[in-house]
Amino acid sequence: MTSKSYLLLTLGTAAGLALTGCASSSPAASASTTDTTTTATASTIATATEAPKGPVMPGVGLDLSARDLSVSPCDNFFQYASGTWLKNTPIPAAESSWGSWNTLIDQNNAVLRNILETAAANKSAAKGTNAQKVGDFYASAMDTVAIEKAGLKYLQPELARINSVKDLKGLQTQLVRQQMLQTRSVFGFGVRQDSKKSTEYALYLGQGGLTLPDRDYYLKEDARSKTIRSAYTTYLTNMFKMLGDNEATASKNAATVLRLETRLAKASKDRVALRDRYANYNKMTVAEANKQFPNLGLSAMLPQVGLGSAKEIIVGQPEFMKEASTALQQEPIADWKTYMRAHLVNSVASALPKAYVDESFRFQQVMSGAKQQQPRWKRMLRSTDATLGEAFGQIYVEKAFTPETKQKALEMVANIKEAMGEHIQALEWMSPATKTEAMKKLNSFTVKIGYPDKWKDYSELSISRESYLKNVLAARQWEYKDNLSKYGKPIDRGEWGMTPPTVNAYYNSSMNEIVFPAGIMQPPFFDPKADDAVNYGGMGAVIGHEITHGFDDQGRQSDAEGNLRDWWTKEDAAEFTKRAGLVGAQYSAFQPLDSVFVNGKLTMGENLADFGGTALAYSALQKQIKKQYPNGNVPQFDGLTPEQRFFLAWAQIWRTSARPEYIRQQVLTDPHSPAQYRTNGPLMNMPEFYEAFGCKQDAKMVRAENVRARIW
Ligand SMILES: [Zn+2]
Repeated sequence: MTSKSYLLLTLGTAAGLALTGCASSSPAASASTTDTTTTATASTIATATEAPKGPVMPGVGLDLSARDLSVSPCDNFFQYASGTWLKNTPIPAAESSWGSWNTLIDQNNAVLRNILETAAANKSAAKGTNAQKVGDFYASAMDTVAIEKAGLKYLQPELARINSVKDLKGLQTQLVRQQMLQTRSVFGFGVRQDSKKSTEYALYLGQGGLTLPDRDYYLKEDARSKTIRSAYTTYLTNMFKMLGDNEATASKNAATVLRLETRLAKASKDRVALRDRYANYNKMTVAEANKQFPNLGLSAMLPQVGLGSAKEIIVGQPEFMKEASTALQQEPIADWKTYMRAHLVNSVASALPKAYVDESFRFQQVMSGAKQQQPRWKRMLRSTDATLGEAFGQIYVEKAFTPETKQKALEMVANIKEAMGEHIQALEWMSPATKTEAMKKLNSFTVKIGYPDKWKDYSELSISRESYLKNVLAARQWEYKDNLSKYGKPIDRGEWGMTPPTVNAYYNSSMNEIVFPAGIMQPPFFDPKADDAVNYGGMGAVIGHEITHGFDDQGRQSDAEGNLRDWWTKEDAAEFTKRAGLVGAQYSAFQPLDSVFVNGKLTMGENLADFGGTALAYSALQKQIKKQYPNGNVPQFDGLTPEQRFFLAWAQIWRTSARPEYIRQQVLTDPHSPAQYRTNGPLMNMPEFYEAFGCKQDAKMVRAENVRARIW
């Protein structure tokens, strides 16, 4: 039921997924194989179907040394395009996966670190300015001496609040407090656009309250799930010991937390069920919600957060809320206090003394496979970005983003939108009535590039050098209040869901908008010095990906105004579903590790976006080439055709090595398929690809016509 689809998601942002309208400012949010190949003789490799017509010259933008020329592009394009790089590039000890994205993020980080260190060194910035807040936040985050010295001092008031709970009413009040502190306790509650009435904000209530990355981690009996639960229990036990419990009490408390979370996990919908937008939209009166979930204390909660006038609420998962309500009353108050204590401390572990940070990492690494912690500056940079991203993002865009890049991006978006329009009109399987609605939707897209026109206002947030933890808690409360304050106001259409340096992009169905932060408009996605083929295979496919999200299995359910409304004829919807099912079956057969399969249903939207993205960008590139070289004398940069360069650029952006732990978590929790399938999956269905590399009918990258999928 998320309203946003991303190009790439980092792992480990667990639980409260039902309410993702607002990005978590939590600095505690954790950071987040290939197929067997057959070798081919050199003569069959990279053979263009036609002899080059134009001049041959050196190109820019592709890392051709990454290729493994012993592999045929027609057998495994991912391996062909990146095999040498994969073989020679170890995953850094502090990472769980490593690829082109990370290289770009590292480059960005160097710029950002410089901005933050300059801000932190300036102790005379005027109080209340963004410069003061950014500098003080980062300085406090890096001041490990002060953090060690403070110990739990700044957490004590919150621990005392939890400790003072005596009855159900007190528990309800405290759960609201935990909402404000964003500790992911029991449920998620917040404000975002009403999916069926996008001109208004609505209150949303949904499942949450878990610490492990998914409900399955609590419920499955396989060895891996048991190992993770055991590591989690050890983490909790050690955490309680550090908080002062003796061995026996600490171990009992850990079991309590796991028991309560398991109860919530059993009542939670799985990630595939959460993709059903209608089933996860249950609008009811507050009175009705009170009747169904009496022990949540909604009637006291809403006035407590300034929403006493609200009459309606959209409940994501009523069955979960019923069980949570029952559990709040049935389970001992003392156990819920233990649960909240664990959630509070875990959520701020990265802002506590080193012993807590290390314990948290020891647990995280069982899931991620990382061998070392990331350096502190990197973790704190990410925390500053998540907390004050639009304050220092302003300085970042001055350094790293030019009006020329913005202009070029707008031009590419226009070309790819035009390609989508032509594709829609040409679809043989879609009726004119549905096409009219689809075109209306396409023509209503809002495009945001680089950074917001109007920056977020942080004036109500107070930041100082006194304590990092104090800053973190203040920022979370500010962000929560900021989110709730939207209720009843007009929709803020200028708002951004990602910060300017972010290397990612998204489609937001309620806004019907595609958004590309400055961070992604750089090599290998976009290189002003590269030829169009490379830029369309990289950034162009990303743009096409986000546009297609508006028409994937979830996005197609929203109309031009961003409302969840069925605008399809019955026949067209059935045909779409049939074609999407073909894609689902293809991905469910992909097996990144022994007996580990991709979930074609969970990754459906992202796979469809990759299918559309590559097809649209390819069409747009063809038009560019015709425009640029009307006489057909297309230059052969590096001796490759533009079509070959296009597909190599696509493979290059997904060049990634991943640890098995990461892959296992990815297939369970991430709607994005592993990189090798993002690379090969769409191309295996594209005759344009077969032609570019001269692939024969029986090649592994070539799907037989009767199982080949094409939607947009
Ligand atoms: Zn996506």
